[in-house]
Amino acid sequence: MSAWLEISDQYQQQVQILGLHSTDLVAAAWYSFQKQQFPVLEIRNQRYGQLLAEIFPKIPPLRRWLTRGFTAHGLICIKEGTWLGRHRLIIHEIGHLLDKDHTWWPTLMHRSWAFRWFNRW
Ligand SMILES: [Zn+2]
Repeated sequence: MSAWLEISDQYQQQVQILGLHSTDLVAAAWYSFQKQQFPVLEIRNQRYGQLLAEIFPKIPPLRRWLTRGFTAHGLICIKEGTWLGRHRLIIHEIGHLLDKDHTWWPTLMHRSWAFRWFNRW
């Protein structure tokens, strides 16, 4: 079974709330981290932009443009074609799912993408 079918089956309600369809996706995968599996959806640019605007209406446009990923209802959503720093982005989003907040410390939870250079929490 494809990862998308598994994820959409297991997260039916969340997928429905977000209005996500397989055609909105570039890819779907389970990401293993510390013996847990996290659902990661790579979303097509246009749909990604719409979702981001719907979920975070108060983020200024530039910041929104710089935001390559977010979590919503237990799902990790990343922007199409995000290859630079992809692993760290996903680990950062997993941090959110594990209830970690943003910080100004030089860690994976740093709030600015550009300064998120450390491989630790
Ligand atoms: Zn974050």
